[in-house]
Amino acid sequence: MNKIVIVGAGQAAGWAVHTLRTQGYDGEIHVVSNEDSVFYERPPLSKQVLSKEATVESLNLFTAEQLDEFSVIWHKPDLAVNIDKFAKTVQLKSGKTLSYDKLLIATGSRARIPVAQWSELKNVYTMRDIQDCQNLAEQFKTAQNIAVIGGGWIGLEIAATARKQGKNVEIFEYGSRLCARSVSPEVSIFLKNLHEDAGTKIHLNATQLNLNEVESQKIEVQNVDSGTHIFDCVVVGAGAQIAKELATAASLDVKDGIVVNEYGQSSDPDIYAAGDVAIHPSLGYCIQSWANAQNQAISAAKSMLGDLTPYQDIPWLWSDQYQCNIQILGTYQPEQTSQVVIRKTNSTQQCFFYLNEKNQLINMIAVNEAKLVKLAKRWLASAKELDPQQLQDLDFNLMKLK
Ligand SMILES: Cc1cc2nc3c(=O)[nH]c(=O)nc-3n(C[C@H](O)[C@H](O)[C@H](O)COP(=O)(O)OP(=O)(O)OC[C@H]3O[C@@H](n4cnc5c(N)ncnc54)[C@H](O)[C@@H]3O)c2cc1C
Repeated sequence: MNKIVIVGAGQAAGWAVHTLRTQGYDGEIHVVSNEDSVFYERPPLSKQVLSKEATVESLNLFTAEQLDEFSVIWHKPDLAVNIDKFAKTVQLKSGKTLSYDKLLIATGSRARIPVAQWSELKNVYTMRDIQDCQNLAEQFKTAQNIAVIGGGWIGLEIAATARKQGKNVEIFEYGSRLCARSVSPEVSIFLKNLHEDAGTKIHLNATQLNLNEVESQKIEVQNVDSGTHIFDCVVVGAGAQIAKELATAASLDVKDGIVVNEYGQSSDPDIYAAGDVAIHPSLGYCIQSWANAQNQAISAAKSMLGDLTPYQDIPWLWSDQYQCNIQILGTYQPEQTSQVVIRKTNSTQQCFFYLNEKNQLINMIAVNEAKLVKLAKRWLASAKELDPQQLQDLDFNLMKLK
């Protein structure tokens, strides 16, 4: 094998390249990226970079020396527009055709805009890449009244960042609670209180929103339930659209994302996928998280080289909002949950444990409890049977259950 092509240059692509080189692969690596900035991590965009506590440079996954050592052949900015799996080629928008021995699709996802007309309005923003973050940061210099559409993780982080800068913030969420897809009702209530206590107004069940440009480039948000509101800008954080179109057009097995086995291999043995765009092999749906993008890509890259390394990671992601570091371990599975245990040290330090009928942990939300998350990763991996009383009892030191 002498030629690997990677489409996308985000978190997954970066770790795939790092792994290929550290595992001794010395053939060609071609990377196609439609972004100019490459191999950077996105989580700080809605947090420290937007609030100017961190620089854009701090997002880089690798040093300049490492990048040199990788000796990647770059095709950027350029767009992969077609895969011919029979000829084993990728066609680029620029007209180039790249042949490959193995191909990794790491195209991630894009910010979803629920109503196409919204993207034509000035002062309506999304948050996916460095440019989006810089545009919003520029707007934040003067904007005082901010609407956030979407009460998921990214929307809540942007709301917290804006509020910390003293702005008036209102959140419009389509559903009846915040982060409903990934957490239980009690965690949604915790999040709602966190934001309302900080002074943010939350409109739930905002199922019919109309956005219009009004005088002085302001945006009018019409919400059937609460009437008309005027904002300096609107940030749409309404979920992600998986960038799976190349795989679909190439007739790979594609559902919500690209179907891959535990080695990252798609229905074509020479085409791999990792990160947001690939379905988690044991869960059966896409996981949009930093750790998933990194670790699924490491496994796929090793497997490409013949070192079959199954990817079986338990989902883990985090969010930072105000004074809270919130970590989510496992997935929210209401039908498997037979008991919820809340261990509350104080209002900003608590854990929500979700146990199945055998008292094994299936999901955990930890607020400012990083050490407990490390421990719980072991409980989850070993399917340890837990005592709900001990989990709840603040006088019991859970570290005894190492
Ligand atoms: C604002 C923000 C905050 C986040 N915060 C957290 C967090 O706190 N914790 C957490 O765990 N996760 C967080 N995430 C999620 C995490 O960043 C993503 O899961 C991760 O970036 C996915 O990596 P990826 O490589 O799969 O995709 P991406 O990082 O999206 O990279 C894909 C790249 O491929 C490019 N591309 C797509 N199609 C083509 C094509 N046809 N040709 C060429 N290039 C193409 C895209 O433009 C992009 O540059 C956050 C994401 C965002 C946007």
